[in-house]
Parts: sequence; structure tokens; C-alpha cells
Amino acid sequence: MSRIRQQNVTAAQWSPNGNAPGPVDLTQPANNPFGKNVFSLAAQRQRLPKDVFKRLQRTLEQGEAIDPSLADSVANAMKEWALEKGATHFTHMFQPLTGLTAEKHDSFFSPDDDGTALAEFSGKELIQGEPDASSFPTGGVRATFEARGYTAWDPTSPAFILENPNGALFCIPTAFASWTGEALDAKIPLLRSMDALSRSAIRALRLLGDDQSERVFTTVGPEQEYFLIDEQYYFERLDLIHTGRTLFGAQPPKGHELDDHYFGSIPERILACMMETERELAKLGVPVKTRHNEVAPNQYEIAPVFENSNVGSDHQQLTMQLMRKIARRYGLVCLLHEKPYAGVNGSGKHNNWSMGTDTGVNLLDPGETPAENINFLFFCAAVIQAVNKHQGLLRASVAALGQDTRLGANEAPPAIISIFLGGELEKVFEAIASGEGDPHTPGSFLGLGTPVLPPLPMHGGDRNRTSPFAFTGNKFEFRTLGSSQSLAFPNSVLNTIVAEAIDELADKLESAVGEGSLAEAVTSVVKDAYDGNRQICFGGDNYSEEWHSEAERRGLKNLHTTPDALPEVLADQSVAAFEKYEVLSRRELESRFEVWVEQYATLANIEAETAAAMARTQLLPAALRHLALVEEAGVGELASETRGLVDEFVEAIRELERANTYPEDVEGMDLAIYARDNQLTAMNRVREVADRLERIVADDLWPLPTYAEMLFIK
Ligand code: ADP
Ligand code: MG
Repeated sequence: MSRIRQQNVTAAQWSPNGNAPGPVDLTQPANNPFGKNVFSLAAQRQRLPKDVFKRLQRTLEQGEAIDPSLADSVANAMKEWALEKGATHFTHMFQPLTGLTAEKHDSFFSPDDDGTALAEFSGKELIQGEPDASSFPTGGVRATFEARGYTAWDPTSPAFILENPNGALFCIPTAFASWTGEALDAKIPLLRSMDALSRSAIRALRLLGDDQSERVFTTVGPEQEYFLIDEQYYFERLDLIHTGRTLFGAQPPKGHELDDHYFGSIPERILACMMETERELAKLGVPVKTRHNEVAPNQYEIAPVFENSNVGSDHQQLTMQLMRKIARRYGLVCLLHEKPYAGVNGSGKHNNWSMGTDTGVNLLDPGETPAENINFLFFCAAVIQAVNKHQGLLRASVAALGQDTRLGANEAPPAIISIFLGGELEKVFEAIASGEGDPHTPGSFLGLGTPVLPPLPMHGGDRNRTSPFAFTGNKFEFRTLGSSQSLAFPNSVLNTIVAEAIDELADKLESAVGEGSLAEAVTSVVKDAYDGNRQICFGGDNYSEEWHSEAERRGLKNLHTTPDALPEVLADQSVAAFEKYEVLSRRELESRFEVWVEQYATLANIEAETAAAMARTQLLPAALRHLALVEEAGVGELASETRGLVDEFVEAIRELERANTYPEDVEGMDLAIYARDNQLTAMNRVREVADRLERIVADDLWPLPTYAEMLFIK
């Protein structure tokens, strides 16, 4: 049956879905939904017996384990709160190594002797669940005889209610481990890495003269890019359904060269969808702040206010989940793939990252006092050292199949990690490195002839959108993350490697302090760190060819694909850092490596199989019908052109089908490399011919919605 373009008309139609609250009076606190479905601090204060509340807070502040008697009381209050909100079930929500979110629901209710049902929820059930989780990937950590993992409540991330038209679900943020204590999830290493960084930073702060701070938190504020597509187009495309991206599609006549979309006014239907998503996120306490159109047509961005890394990471998972869910209420599908459309901008996630003390000081904010400036230079130098030393690991922390279609292509950071400091900050470091920075008249190296360290005149205006890792005034922005990615691992890596660098610098500071003033000691430590690591700093255009050769001259790593990058996870210095800070053991790292390699090969195979099926059963028949058409019309030139292309297409499909038959005995990394070098290359060849066919086959015969339709009809 041929495809009729009538769909385009219905795809463009939209009317509000009836969920609209309309404008409400937001001066009335009751009308503000923020945090309504969160068992927040306020809810805890209100619901828990006073002494229980206090003990719980103390336990959390000191990072200790929860006392079982405390847990019973907390569980009871949670249950009452959840039942009032209509929750029939509870779940321990966790992030297995797949990077997705996992949940298993249990009812609060059990039958009572008298034939009725009784709602129960004990402290034991709150603290520890036992999912029958033998199907989650473990990379060999769990033998089947010890197949059970267990989930443990993470009291530092608040519990919440997820609403459904038919009820509600009480969700308990949770960590997931094996019975032998190995982390089987993304949260445990993140929490461990936050602890590690806190210990190192507090040690350094003491040396720097701060005796107030007790704890340092890492913070994260992710900017999430995404596409929306009309569901009619989505469900007409097996590639979108199975792989999240289009495996075929000729370039549209109009791309984003007109720049008429970026920061443009948001179409009403899209804005309505965003508003409902944000309202639902607000109920869950996710502090969404910013929304705008992105560069590509039908591409958008959402960003929250930053939070501590653990809560921020949980909230990011929720954000992705709700974006997907709520788009469907508007006849849309939310695409979180890194590159849904070839030749069009991809989607990333900018991981804004910093460190802050419990006394409220952002350690990456140059600040306004001399002491803050000294601290800032010290911590900033530590980040530079960490990123240079572990550039390969950072690259590996964002490796995934979807990323291989984006990184290093135009309009996305290259696969080379480098740091953009910005003109002013670079000047400061250069002055210190060249010895022009005299700590006693520090104004000299800041170029502001005052006798004491003045505030560094850092501002957010100095931007480099091509940099993978940029200083943006009071934080670093790690811009290389993929749009579908969990924040947990990249942030675990960042925290761990910076903890290590802080300690390395603190060791030097300890010995340097004896020899002169604190300012002199810090200056010499910062000078050494910058001197030894300045190769990672680059202020130019990361998209340019020259940078690739320059980076190679500098000896920076350029890890193009996931199979190139993943071995960095197991590099000696990576394992050493993770083990030293007890974030991940070698065994835990090996298990992750194994899972990620397998995931890459599996997903590549799904892409290649999907492409083969679509080419053979959807596109080839269309091409053959078209061939019959032109042959019948007797226009010889068209017939031979079409026949030539069809022959090429058949040849390419055969090649892909051969590649899709796995060779014997290939597994693990070899299989990943096989998939990359055989299946994906054969698939790209099929696509290349198909896209040429799309340009000549009769429009009513071509079975797939085109790029022009998917990107521009909204
Ligand atoms: P941009 O110009 O990049 O949009 P913004 O100041 O708007 O800069 O911040 C972008 C993101 O950075 C937001 O998600 C915000 O929450 C986050 N951010 C700001 N300060 C911090 C911080 N100290 N730590 C982590 N993230 C932060
Ligand atoms: Mg930004």
C-alpha cells in the first residue's frame, strides 16, 4: 500500500488535551505545586515525631547508617503520607548498570484475618528490598547461586509519589548492591565519590585556613537537549521505535541554516507540553528553571537549578522519564537519542559541575575576598590537573553507541577532551606560570594594580560553545555527555579524579607552607599544576581540523568510538584512583566495562538488524515499484538510472545481511569491534544508497516519513 501524505495534515493538528489548569493565582501558596508530591524536609518535620525527625536529620548530616528503630517510625509516617495521596503501592527505584531506571512495585496492602485488607509498611521494608533481580546485568559480579541483589534506601534523596490516572505509586530512591556488597548500580559509586571528594576538599580547606566547613558537596545542573516528533511519524518508523534514531533519511531541502528556530518563539502545542512536564516535575521537587528552542528544528532544551550531585542525578532520571511520558499526552514522542537525525545537530547534556561547602561557599567561584581567590585558584588548578591526567577516563565516561554518531561530528564536541578557561582566567594562570604573578602584590598578575588580591573579574560572557569542558564563571561545564545518559557515572568520575588531584596538590601545599606565606605556597603549587598540565587547555575552535592536528602534537587522546574509549575505564591509573578513594573496586570496574561493551555490541546489532529489515522489506520494494513505473513509462534514461541504483542497493543489503551473521566464537570487546567495523559500516553503506533512492522514488511510493516532514511539521 502506498503512503499517503494525508498524515501530514493530521500531524499538524492539535487541540489542548483537557489537562489544562488554565492560569491560576500563584500568589496563593496552595496553587504552587512545587514539592507537593515529595516527602520533603517540610513533610518530614510535619509528619515525624519530633525526636525521630531530629535523629533522622542528625544521621543524614553525619552520613551514618539508619538505626532500625528509627526506620520503623519513618516508614510509618511515609505510609500514612503516601496513602493519603492515593498510593496503593511502593517501589524501591534504582539505576542498574543499563543506565535506565528500574522499579518493582509492591502493594502496601495485605489481607487481614477478618477478610479485609490492612496497609503495612515496616522499617525493614523501607530500608531494604530484595528484588528478584537476576536479570539485571552484573558483568559477572554475581554468580547465579547468589543471584539476589538487594536494594537499600538512600535517605539523602527524598521519596516521592508518581501519579497515574488510575492511582499513585510511592517511590523510594534506592541503591542496588550484590549480597557480597558490590555495587550493581550507578548510585553507589556516585555517593562514594561525593564522600571522597568531600574528604579531600576538607583536608585542603584546612590547609588553606578554613576551619569552619565540615563537608563539601559536589553540585550538578544539567542542561538537557531533546527533540519532539509527532507520534504519527514516530510510529511509522521502525528505526525510531527500535533504536531511537533514524537509520535512513535524505537531507531536507531546508536545514537549520536559516537559524529561524534557535531561541525562537515556542509553538503553542510544544509549549503546552513543556508546561505540563514542568508542572509534573515541580510536584516532584525538580527545580526546573529554563526552557528554550535549540539549534535544530524541533529541538528543545530544559534545565533545572543545580542541586547536590546525588539528588540532581536522581532528578535528571525523573526528568527524562516524565518528558517521555508527558509528550505522549500531546501526540508527541520525546527523542532523547544523541543523534536522531543524521546531518542535523545532535542532542547532548551539559553537565554543569562545581563543589560547594556546607557553609555556602562555591569553591569554583573566584569570590570577592583574597582568601576566596586563593582557594579558587587552588581548586581550579586541581580540576585542570585531574582532567589532563584522566582525559581518557572522562571520554570513556560518556562513551555509548549513540555518542559515536555525535562526538567529533560537526556541532558537537570532539572526542578529544580539552579545557576552555576563558581569556581572563587563562591570563591569570599564564601570569602565575611565567612567574609574573607575585603573591605579595597579586594585583600584578591579575592586571588590576591593587595591593591585595582583588576579585577576579570573571564573568559569564566569555563563552566557547565548541569546548568539551569549559569554565563558565563559577563552575565547569562538561559538555560531552549524551542526551540520554545518566549523570551518575560521569559525575562519579569527575568527583573521584578531582578528589585525587586535590590530594596531590594538598600534599605539595603541606610541604610548601613551611617555606613562606600561604599565598606564596599556593602560588607555587598552582604554578606547578598549571605548568604540568597546560597542554589540556585550549581556547580555540574545537570543531576545526587544525585542533585535531594540534591536539595530536600535544599528545592528547583522541578516542573516536566507544570501543576505543571504554578500555580507559580499566587503565592502571583509573583503577588506582577508583580503588584509592573506594569508589569502585577493580572487580566492580571490570563488571561495568563488561556490561558496557556488551551493551554496545547488542545495540549496534539491533541497529544493523533493523536497518537490514527496513531496507529489504520496506525500501527495496518501493524502489522496485518505482523501477517498474519508469520502465513502463519507457523513459530509458530514468530506467537505467533507477536500475543502477537498485542494483547498488541490493548489493549493499546483501553485504549488510552477511555482516549481520556473527562469526563463530567472537565475544566481548572483539564482538563490539566486529559490530563497529562490519555491521555499522555495512549499515552506513545501505543508508547512503537508500538516501539517494529516496530522492528519485515517487513520493507516494516511499514508505517512510521524510526528514522534511519529521523536522518541520509541528
Ligand atoms: P548558561 O549560560 O550555560 O545557560 P546558567 O548560569 O544559566 O548558564 O547555568 C546553566 C546551568 O548551570 C543551570 O542548569 C544551572 O543550574 C547550572 N549551575 C549554575 N551554578 C552551578 C553550580 N554551582 N554547580 C552546578 N551547576 C550550576
Ligand atoms: Mg550552558
